[in-house]
Parts: sequence; structure tokens; C-alpha cells
Amino acid sequence: APSFILISGIQASIYLWQVFLKSQLLLEGMLNGKVALITGGASGIGESTARLFSRHGAKVVIADIQDNLGLSVCKDLSPTSASFVHCDVTNEKEVENAVNLAVATHGKLDIMFNNAGIAGEAKPHILDNDKTEFERVLNVNVVGAFLGTKHAARVMIPAGNGSIITTASVCSTVGGGASHAYTSSKHAVVGLARNAAVELGKYGIRVNCVSPYLVATPLAKDLFKLDDDGVSGVYSNLKGKVLNAEDVAEAALYLAGDESKYVSGHNLLVDGGFTVVNPSFGSLGVALMI
Ligand code: NAD
Repeated sequence: APSFILISGIQASIYLWQVFLKSQLLLEGMLNGKVALITGGASGIGESTARLFSRHGAKVVIADIQDNLGLSVCKDLSPTSASFVHCDVTNEKEVENAVNLAVATHGKLDIMFNNAGIAGEAKPHILDNDKTEFERVLNVNVVGAFLGTKHAARVMIPAGNGSIITTASVCSTVGGGASHAYTSSKHAVVGLARNAAVELGKYGIRVNCVSPYLVATPLAKDLFKLDDDGVSGVYSNLKGKVLNAEDVAEAALYLAGDESKYVSGHNLLVDGGFTVVNPSFGSLGVALMI
């Protein structure tokens, strides 16, 4: 009887160890063997995504204009899995170079995350908005996403595979959430992603957007004067939950990995239902009685 108990104990331990290993592979290996380039990866949503992609086995190249921050994120991750390249997304040569560097270092590019963005000045009245500022926001948010999509496609087309993701925003579907320039830019990148999805589908390349509600990153804190708790539920629809950068990274992870292999031309809103709320309905009970 004691030897039976011992053998059962060993078998149980082996079984539990196998379950543990399997769960680790399933949970932490969604991007094993993949190479990702993340613009705006030095801070906020991009940084969280770089960390999450790296945890899931991807080789990550962070492309940003904040060199010190970007380098410190890479230092935090393993030097074999993360590297930094200075890249202003409005500069085609620098975007081209970042894509070429990812391919030269890791042999390919599987995932392009066009995430770099700026909010611009918040001037609600169109008469106060000047052309230079409007163009500055569109240059980073739209031209940057265009250049990233173009150069990623350049190396993904011969490979016959790839996932291109752009960070849009809830401002890609509703008006009034930010400046005219920002809202225009986020609508534009969804159009770009849809057009590119149509064209690049025949090469096996998927193109999508991820659209967050407010996240308390430096960009949003600066613009909306937020503290670390984000908007504390003032405008949000989903009560008791606060959106953070990691939640957006999880959505990007889904779009990046093979779990979304048939998803293309999609704008994945991570907004707790914010963009489908019509406040004129008043209480939901009244709306549902109609
Ligand atoms: P963030 O300021 O923390 O990060 C933006 C990053 O982009 C920074 O590291 C910055 O250096 C980089 N960047 C800016 N201009 C660049 C350029 N020309 N070239 C290369 N890199 C550049 O802000 P975030 O909130 O993490 O923003 C990431 C994306 O998420 C943006 O596209 C933003 O519009 C979008 N977004 C943010 C929110 C939010 O509430 N924070 C909501 C919806 C969408």
C-alpha cells in the first residue's frame, strides 16, 4: 500500500507539472517566434504592448523619438528579445530604416503596431484652430500610420503573412471627444486600415485598428488633466472598471496573434460600450421599454 501511494503521488505530481507547463505555453506564448515593431513603444499603450508581446515570446523592436525611455524599456526586457530604434514616424527614411532593422536583426517582420500618436492642442472652437497645428497632428497620427503600413507591407508581401495594427481611438467613431485634428486623424486611420486590409488580404496580411477609450497615459493625462485613476467613471459607461494600458495591449495581442487569423479590416473598440451609449435615452430601462 505505501508503494502504491508513492507511485500515485509521483504520477499526480507529473500530471500537475504537465498541466502547469501546458498552461504556461497557452497563456504566455501567443507570439512565440514572431517579430513585432511597435511605434510609440517607449511610453503608455505602446510600452505596455511591448512588455506583453515580449512576455508572449515575441522579439520586439521599439521605435520612438524618446530614446532614453525606449532604451530603458528594452533594458527592462531581455536584450535578446527587445531592441530600440530612434524613429520619427513622420519621416519616411526613419520608418523604412526601423522596418529594415527589424528584418535585419530577426529575419522577418510579423507584426507592425502603428501606435505612435499625439493629441495636439485641445481647442474646441474651430475658429481657434490653426492650420499648422492641424497638420502637425495629422502628420504624426495619419502620415505616421500610412508610412508604417506601407513599409511593413513592403516586407510582409514577399513573406505572404503579417498583421498590421494601428491605434485609433473612440474618436474614430464619435465626434466631440477631442480636437478637430485628433478626431479627424483617428477617423482617417480606420479608413486607411480598411483600404489596406482590402488590398493586402490577397497576400495573407491582416490590417486592423484597436480603439481605446481614455487611458491615463502621459498623452491623456496631459490633455484631460487626469490622475492615475483615469476618468474615475465620469464619462465611462462601464461602472466599477478603469481602462488601463494593459487592457489595450491585450486587445493588440489578440489582433497580432494567430487567434485572430480571420479578422481583418476591423476596428476593435476597447471602450466599455462608451461609443454605443446615447445619453438622450436617459435610463436604460426607459430605452428598453420602447
Ligand atoms: P503616450 O504619450 O504615452 O505614448 C505615445 C508615444 O508616441 C510616446 O512614446 C511618444 O514619444 C511617441 N511619439 C509621439 N510622436 C512620435 C513620432 N513623431 N514618432 C515616433 N514616436 C512618436 O500616449 P498613449 O496614450 O500611449 O498613446 C498611444 C496611442 O494611443 C496614440 O496613437 C493615441 O492617439 C492612442 N490613444 C490613446 C488614448 C488614451 O486615452 N491614452 C485613447 C485612445 C487612443
